Amino acid sequence: MKKQLIICTDMEGATGIFEENYKAMVHGTDEWRSIGREYMTSDVLAVCEAANESGIDEILIYDGHYAGDPEHNIIIDKLPSNVRFFDTPQRRFWWRRIRGQADWKPYGIITVGQHARYGEKNAYFPHTIQSPPIKEITFNGIHIAEIGTAVLNFQDTRYIANVGCKSSMKEAKELSDTVATISVKDKEKGWEPNVEETFPIIKKGVLEALRNIDKMKTVKIAESYEFSMTLTEGYIYNIPERVSWKGAFNKSKAFWEAPSVEIGLEIFNFVREYIVKDNL
Ligand SMILES: [Zn+2]
Repeated sequence: MKKQLIICTDMEGATGIFEENYKAMVHGTDEWRSIGREYMTSDVLAVCEAANESGIDEILIYDGHYAGDPEHNIIIDKLPSNVRFFDTPQRRFWWRRIRGQADWKPYGIITVGQHARYGEKNAYFPHTIQSPPIKEITFNGIHIAEIGTAVLNFQDTRYIANVGCKSSMKEAKELSDTVATISVKDKEKGWEPNVEETFPIIKKGVLEALRNIDKMKTVKIAESYEFSMTLTEGYIYNIPERVSWKGAFNKSKAFWEAPSVEIGLEIFNFVREYIVKDNL
C-alpha cells in the first residue's frame, strides 16, 4: 500500500528565528524572503529526507503560516520530487478540503516549525492562531492551537513527530504521549542553534520515530464535537441575535458544536468574525 506522509507547518517555531530577527517570519519582508524561507525549508527538507530514506512514497504538505496569502513559506524547488502541497485558495485552512485531498488512511502526520500556545512560558512567539484576541481554544476539553488543529483534522492518523520550539512539545504531548518531540530551539536553556546544527537533529529524530512507527498512537476524538474559544482582555464578542450553526456566546467566550471535526474547525472562522475590541 502507498505510504503517504502528511506534514503541517508553521513558522514561528522554525530553526533560527528568534526575537532579535523576528522579521524572518514576517511574511513578505526582505528578511522573510532571504533568511526565513531558507530556515523553514531546511527544517522541512530534513523531515522529507528522513521520510524518503524510510520508504515513504508520497509527502503532502500544508504550509499554514500566514494563511490567506498564496505565496509559500517553503521553497518548493528545494524539496524532493515526491512532495505535493495541499491545494486551497490562498493556502487558507479549509480543513475539509485539506482532509479530502489526502488518503483516507495516511501513514502518519508530522508537525514542523511549531510554536507554543498563548500563555506558555519560555516560548518563542507563543500564540493561539492569533493572540490577541484569542486566548484559548478547546475541543472536547483538549486545549488546542495550531498543532492540535492540524493533528485533529487528521484524527485517527498516527501522530509521528513534532518539530519546533521546545515549549510547543507540551501541546503535542497532550495530543499523543507517544509523539516524538524534536526541539530546534529552547528559550529556557538559551539554546539557539542554526540550521547546520538542527538539520541532522531533525533528520535523525524523524528516522528514529519512523523506525518506531508501530508504537505511535493515533489521536482519536469521540462524538460529540464541542468547541470553545475564549478571548484575551480587551476583546469581546459582538453577540449576534442568531447564527446558522449550533452554538452560543457570552461576552468573552463562544461555544459551538459540529457534526464532524473538520466542520467544527471551519465554524471557528465564522465565530471569529464576531470578535470586536472592547471599547468600554
Ligand atoms: Zn505562524
